[in-house]
Amino acid sequence: MDHDTATRTTLIRSASDAGSKVFATILTRSPISRIDIARHTGLSQAAVTKAVSPLVAAGLVDAPPAAHRDGNPGRPVAPVSIIPGAMIMLGVKVNVDEVIAVATDLTTAVLAADHRRLDAHDPESVLDAIVDVVATLELELGGRSAAIAGLGVSISGDVDTDTGVVRESALMGWHDEPFAGRLQDRLGRPVTLENDVHALTVGEHWFGVGLGTDSFAIVTIGRGIGSGLHLNGQVVTGAYGVAGEIGHLPLADPTRICPCGRRGCVEAVASTGAIEATVSASHGREIGIDEAVRLAHDGDPAAMAAFDEAATLIGTAIATLVNLTGPQLVIIGGEGVSNFDLFDATLRSAFEAHAFGAAARCPIVARPHTFEDWARGAAAAAIQSLVR
Ligand SMILES: [Zn+2]
Repeated sequence: MDHDTATRTTLIRSASDAGSKVFATILTRSPISRIDIARHTGLSQAAVTKAVSPLVAAGLVDAPPAAHRDGNPGRPVAPVSIIPGAMIMLGVKVNVDEVIAVATDLTTAVLAADHRRLDAHDPESVLDAIVDVVATLELELGGRSAAIAGLGVSISGDVDTDTGVVRESALMGWHDEPFAGRLQDRLGRPVTLENDVHALTVGEHWFGVGLGTDSFAIVTIGRGIGSGLHLNGQVVTGAYGVAGEIGHLPLADPTRICPCGRRGCVEAVASTGAIEATVSASHGREIGIDEAVRLAHDGDPAAMAAFDEAATLIGTAIATLVNLTGPQLVIIGGEGVSNFDLFDATLRSAFEAHAFGAAARCPIVARPHTFEDWARGAAAAAIQSLVR
């Protein structure tokens, strides 16, 4: 990290509450006038102007000389904007068989991207892969790598962002793993660890649908059923970091055992693994997800029933989430979206059956995120953690 980057990082981290709010607003809504910043943050225009000055001085924000409106002397109306290249953030998405890494600017535009296959997914192997892929990105960035302010890592499971510990990741087979600290020691850079769906939610807020809406939920379908909540302009993680976790709502038959150990979870019926198990059991042989999809498309009754059952539970869980939290929009992502046609109609009718009153108007859209989008989400979460 060069001198400028260190100065900027310190400025953002040590900003007052008003300063943080102003910077966060410029980050997500740039270009924006001071008047609109005041409206968004609830601060006075004087307070906004005071908060903008050090950001301009540090080279984080560009503010052209203020124009003056006739009859309104002294009121600056020229918009201020973020200087995208003022800092670079690295983002890494950890999968069970691969790590995907990107370098982004402050608007999460991707400057460089790379990935590493994982032969094993124990913490040590994942650390090695991340250190290796980061070295490649640094090389690719050349002189610009001096602007790297840190690294965001996103991973499936129950993640404690404050302590940087993966408390439980069933997918990775990790338990109480102090991953952020270990990676920070290896890289000598600040590391922010975040649940992967929460990071994607932060990313969607910045570079996706969040631009047009103040509240949305993301539900991911696939190996796990995950969710992220973004309400009133904030990602909601809750006091224990697991707010909105719809995969473990007990909506299924209690005879179904979830990988988490509980009974009747949505995930126990609707995950990729559960669909595979159901179709395998009815055919009396081992059937993987690709074959299950093929069978369902060919009209195999057992396979179609398995997808219908999964879609019913996911639709019911989404209705529960929408009834409780009231987002404007629900985005469905995750690797299961590639076969969304097998879920679509049943999921929507289950949602409509259980959405209460006007909540049924909430649109549900499927959005195929690339792994690069997930990695951008990790970078966005790391940028956000600077502001927090
Ligand atoms: Zn469960």
